[in-house]
Amino acid sequence: MAAAERLGVDVVVGSERRNALESLSDSGTLQVDLGDPARGAATIVEYARERPLDAVVGVDDGSTLVASAAAAALELPHNEFEAVQASRDKSVARARFAAAGLPTPRHIVVEADADPRAILGAGEVRFPCVIKPIDLSSSQGVIRADDPESFEIAFERVVTIVRSPAVCPPGTATQQIIIEGFIPGPEVAVEGLIRGGELEILAIFDKPDRLDGPFFEETIYVTPSRLAPETLDSLETATRAAVGALGLTEGAIHAEFRLGVGGPWVLEVAARSIGGLCARTLRFGAGLMLEELILRGAASMALPSHDRVDTAAGVMMLPIPRAGVLDEVRGIAEARAVPGIDGLEITIRGGATVVPLPEGDRYLGFLFARGDTPATVETALRVAHARLDVVIT
Ligand code: ADP
Repeated sequence: MAAAERLGVDVVVGSERRNALESLSDSGTLQVDLGDPARGAATIVEYARERPLDAVVGVDDGSTLVASAAAAALELPHNEFEAVQASRDKSVARARFAAAGLPTPRHIVVEADADPRAILGAGEVRFPCVIKPIDLSSSQGVIRADDPESFEIAFERVVTIVRSPAVCPPGTATQQIIIEGFIPGPEVAVEGLIRGGELEILAIFDKPDRLDGPFFEETIYVTPSRLAPETLDSLETATRAAVGALGLTEGAIHAEFRLGVGGPWVLEVAARSIGGLCARTLRFGAGLMLEELILRGAASMALPSHDRVDTAAGVMMLPIPRAGVLDEVRGIAEARAVPGIDGLEITIRGGATVVPLPEGDRYLGFLFARGDTPATVETALRVAHARLDVVIT
């Protein structure tokens, strides 16, 4: 919304709940069924008869399918529905990546009601492996298993997550689970923008905390990457190949890779920008936000010069340390006072029930830093985080 305001672009927010953004007037919102792309798109098309739209932008995993269907119906630039579907389905995406010759771990897909002992008995699971719901996001329900015993426990835990009504209302879930080889190595994220089929890489983030499981909580993202130029080149090539394999042609992409044996292994490519408030780390050209670039791209407006601004920047997604009711977060002023810290937002209200990964899918909030080098940014984030005391009862 801030980016739209800066651009002088009118926005109507489509969301499942009418009051998704309290600051909006009724005319600025549209209730859209995001769980049913055809229905959701029909609502948007009907709205556009009265008030024509120049673009439909999906902002998160829950809205990319509806955005694609609506933009197609309105003959606006869009990703093919089937390409977005492929990006949302971990099994289809894996098959596409493998067909494109990208390194891909062994994987099998099983129904949630399968018997874990029978899966093991079939002899196709190699350890370590990662068990994950086929269509969730934010690392929800993603668990590593190292042996048959931990596999059985982890599998049941993933099944409970995909069957929980909060995650998958009855009848809406595919309830399939993918089991794939664990890819060792450091993880990186790539932000890009596609316009008319041309992909531009906007930023590459290192994730300096090792993500070795058993759960895969994201913490620190720092840009620019400290990787060697040839590794960055190989990431760019792999991103192009992965985007091409899915068939994405318009809008923001957020890709995640592991630097494994022989180079980058793609984990996923999402047809949206980086999640939560993380995009606040990015500034381009004369101070443009990532969302300004996305809106300009979507509405076919010219893009001014937009090299990433040269300082290092980073964000820490604040993990939920344990389940309970969030009482308060202490030490906020002390964390903000750490040199280099330029923002701290707690995005869960006091009194709310909090659930850590793998059952949960949210973070407590976001801590932001800027500095001369990626190392100083990373240090600032760690020092500030250590000053926070999260009280959960
Ligand atoms: P989601 O869409 O829920 O984010 P991902 O497939 O991206 O699911 O997995 C979330 C995280 O789990 C990844 O960022 C990575 O750290 C870890 N992960 C998932 N699959 C693998 C794998 N095959 N090998 C190693 N780590 C993995």
